[in-house]
Amino acid sequence: MSNWYKLDAQKVLQRLGSDVSFGLSAVEASRRLEKYGFNELIEQGLKNPWQILWEQVTASLVIILIVAAIVSGLLGDYKDAVGIIAIVVLIAFLGFSQEYQAQKAIATLKKLSLPDVKVLRDGRWEEISARYLVPGDIVQLEAEDIVPADCRVLESFGLRIQESTLTGVSEPVDKDSQALAQADLQLGEHHNMAYMDTVVTYGRGLAVVTETGMNTEMGHVVSRIQAVEVEPTPLQKRLDRLGRGLAFASLAVVAVILILGMLRGEDLRLMFLTAITLVVAALPEGLPAVVTIALALGARQMLKRRALIRNLPAVETLGSVTVICSGKTGTLTENRMTVSVLDVAGQRIDLTTRMRAPVGDKSRDRPFLLCQPPSVALLLASSTLCNNALLEPDRDEPLYFRAVGDPTEGALVMTSAQQGLWKGDLESLLPRVTEVSYTSQRQRMTTIHKFPNNPSRIPCVLETVWHWSEKIGGMSYIGFTKGTVNSLLDVCSHIWINGQAKPLTEIWHRHISVTYSQLAKNGLRVMGVAFRPLQSTQAWEDVEQDLIFIGMVGMNDPARPEVRDAVLTCKRAGIRPVMITGDHPLTAQFIAREVSIADSDRILTSDELSQLPTEELVAILEDISVYARVSSEHKLEIVQTLQRRGHIVAMTGDGINDAPALKAANIGVAMGIRGTDVAKEAADMVLLDDNFATLVAAVKEGRVIYDNIRKFIKYLLSSNVGEIWVMLVAPFLGMPLPLLPLQILWINLTTDGLPALALGVEPAEQDTMNRPPHPPNENIFGRGMGRDIIWIGILMGVVSLGTGYAYWRIGNPNWQTMLFTTLTLAQMGNALAIRSERDSLFQIGLLSNKPLLGAVTLTLGLQLMVTYVPFFQKLFTTLPLSAVDLAVCLVVGSVVFWCVELEKWLLRRHQPRIGKLHLVPEVDNKNHVQPRGVTASSFTSPRLHLCNASKSRDRAASLRLHLRLKASGYKRK
Ligand code: ADP
Ligand code: MG
Repeated sequence: MSNWYKLDAQKVLQRLGSDVSFGLSAVEASRRLEKYGFNELIEQGLKNPWQILWEQVTASLVIILIVAAIVSGLLGDYKDAVGIIAIVVLIAFLGFSQEYQAQKAIATLKKLSLPDVKVLRDGRWEEISARYLVPGDIVQLEAEDIVPADCRVLESFGLRIQESTLTGVSEPVDKDSQALAQADLQLGEHHNMAYMDTVVTYGRGLAVVTETGMNTEMGHVVSRIQAVEVEPTPLQKRLDRLGRGLAFASLAVVAVILILGMLRGEDLRLMFLTAITLVVAALPEGLPAVVTIALALGARQMLKRRALIRNLPAVETLGSVTVICSGKTGTLTENRMTVSVLDVAGQRIDLTTRMRAPVGDKSRDRPFLLCQPPSVALLLASSTLCNNALLEPDRDEPLYFRAVGDPTEGALVMTSAQQGLWKGDLESLLPRVTEVSYTSQRQRMTTIHKFPNNPSRIPCVLETVWHWSEKIGGMSYIGFTKGTVNSLLDVCSHIWINGQAKPLTEIWHRHISVTYSQLAKNGLRVMGVAFRPLQSTQAWEDVEQDLIFIGMVGMNDPARPEVRDAVLTCKRAGIRPVMITGDHPLTAQFIAREVSIADSDRILTSDELSQLPTEELVAILEDISVYARVSSEHKLEIVQTLQRRGHIVAMTGDGINDAPALKAANIGVAMGIRGTDVAKEAADMVLLDDNFATLVAAVKEGRVIYDNIRKFIKYLLSSNVGEIWVMLVAPFLGMPLPLLPLQILWINLTTDGLPALALGVEPAEQDTMNRPPHPPNENIFGRGMGRDIIWIGILMGVVSLGTGYAYWRIGNPNWQTMLFTTLTLAQMGNALAIRSERDSLFQIGLLSNKPLLGAVTLTLGLQLMVTYVPFFQKLFTTLPLSAVDLAVCLVVGSVVFWCVELEKWLLRRHQPRIGKLHLVPEVDNKNHVQPRGVTASSFTSPRLHLCNASKSRDRAASLRLHLRLKASGYKRK
């Protein structure tokens, strides 16, 4: 049924069995949920389990192994054939489960990022995840929401929707509730429908859900697009490249081993099998999947700390952030406003020093405290009427009230009520006609109300206004505007003084500015309030002019107590915290000092920003930690300039205008509570509690994940080097084949599987946040890792081959089992020792990574099984070792552990912890960015990594858009 637009609203509701004022009952909703399924688009990009399994089975290495098994089978070597097949199954299973876990984690992230919707159920408004919407649900649409499902509009207050995702038209479309009974219309002309995934750019509305999930227009489009490949993360791409390099290297080595073996007249069949298994063993084929799992686990860890990751590469990028640009209100502060100062022309009331009525007392007969200066009462009444917050009886304490909505507005409503001005009462006398919503661009909002024509219905606070209006010929409507003082002064022509509108002279201008600064200096968030008499409802563009300035309200918003520590942590970690706010510079400075963000007294405002030439901005950027009165466009400029300096930028934002900056930033961070759908959609990460400290915790987690990825790469590759070394050197010592094919595969399977995964969940190191961020384009082998891989690998080879050689020389038939066991033990010792890059295992404790301890224990158990259980002895050609022999293996194998510990000890002795910022590029006289400091060499292409990240994302997005456009083009035909 796609002709909802032709029916009138009542009919639509009837058909859907719904009701505007009651919505669906909870029972009916759950019944429909069962019938229609979840309201979500089935992502084509994600693979289903069969696809994953097929990919695993057809992976080239597995095929090589299967061929090898068949060859050995044909040659009559059934034991090897069966063994290889068994191991192939295990490898494929391991690969499958890793890949499946990774995909599941990505899918979970997608589900979590679905927006919440305000829906009417059982006559009450609730907020639920868009996933649970069903046809017939009544939903609210507000500016900057993403439409959660296909809906028929029932009520519209200037509702405008941008539908480019469906129609390709970027101009927003006005929506109303009128039925369009005429002939068939194209999608773009359905002015009474709101379609899933389009964006509400303006106004408010009420709508009934008509279709959900894959039945929506977007669902049709998605189902027509073929699967879009999920972009690998930049790290995965680098690993892929690494894998290819290693493949060539190991092929070369294997060829050498093969040739040497043939020259020495080894059994050709055995050599062939050995070569194949060695290739398989040498390649870290599971690496990309393990990386994805590590990232996904990191994302899960971050979610526990209230940071929701929306795309996986962000986890990795977070670790290299060098600047965090944060909003002020709600992120650095608690967003718990209390009105503390009321200022009208020439008079100021400080509510903190005056006696205040008990909070939430709802006695309405209390004498009106602030009536003496009537303009103060007018100020309060106006700010309460021009307001979308509501007072609601507190659920826990029924005698008390609490404000719901934006905390800034809530504080105004609350204060007014405390002074006896109830929003509900005022609004019933002056019903709201329309609203021009707040945008961060204008930094103000306006509501227009019907002015009572019956004098008895005029509230006492508006009496002066009424008397005055009588003199100028009456008014039928009144507009109230509130916003930043500067934005109001731009549109005010008069000022309200003693019941009169006087021209806003230069002197008054200055007076207001001075007062404004005084209030801001004490950290108050200041809001200006104005009104305007109106004869008729005018177009909204024209309403905000010729206003009469009433006064200012100063609000207190304390800094979050945990932020100071988080800021200091950032500074220790070489990350520069920067505050970007729309508030007054002095308010900004006050809070910045309080949370220790301010390094200098230098503050940049939007005005100064737009006058500065870019080069100059680049030059002074490093000195500025506070940007005030900044509008959203300038956020983008700040991000881009910082990036030009080589910074990796995390930027917070909450509104639709922040979206470009969020996209441009390396990590766009949306606010979970205050943020709009559009901001969340544009962001890489959502802070569920809006808290700066959460962001810093996420950065820390990002660093931990990056470290852990390095650790398991180091572990995997050093183990592989060890194995290859054994195979390569043995012939030169005149030994027979040191390890049999099945033994190699076994080592590969047990040591590479679980311990590597467990290294991925290693907890944070002590100095994670006490060192500078790793350079963004750092080679994955950087900071000595390549060197470590080589020497640890060689050492492993030396100790195990040495043991085997010694036993072989004295003719002990156990020599191969000794070698096999020592190698495994050495690898386990390595896994334990490389858990930390500088602290010893004894400092961090054996128990601090229980999964790894478990994995190591399990691997040791399996090794014993292979050595002592007769069935496996036959399969793996092992002999039981005596207790003494086993002890020898243990002692010799642990040499690797001790050597790695020794290296860390030397590191600790000779390289004290660093806590200073390394990344300080400098501008030379030609204004070119010049690197300075320890990491200079890594600066040759400072944006390499970042280009990768953003380009791939953009490409994916534009591809999707392109496909959507194409699909909707088909539709029109
Ligand atoms: P921040 O950058 O600290 O988050 P905002 O961008 O939220 O600050 O607010 C900047 C200014 O915009 C505030 O000082 C206030 O004057 C004004 N403002 C914020 N919210 C509203 C609103 N709902 N109505 C009118 N003005 C507002
Ligand atoms: Mg803001």
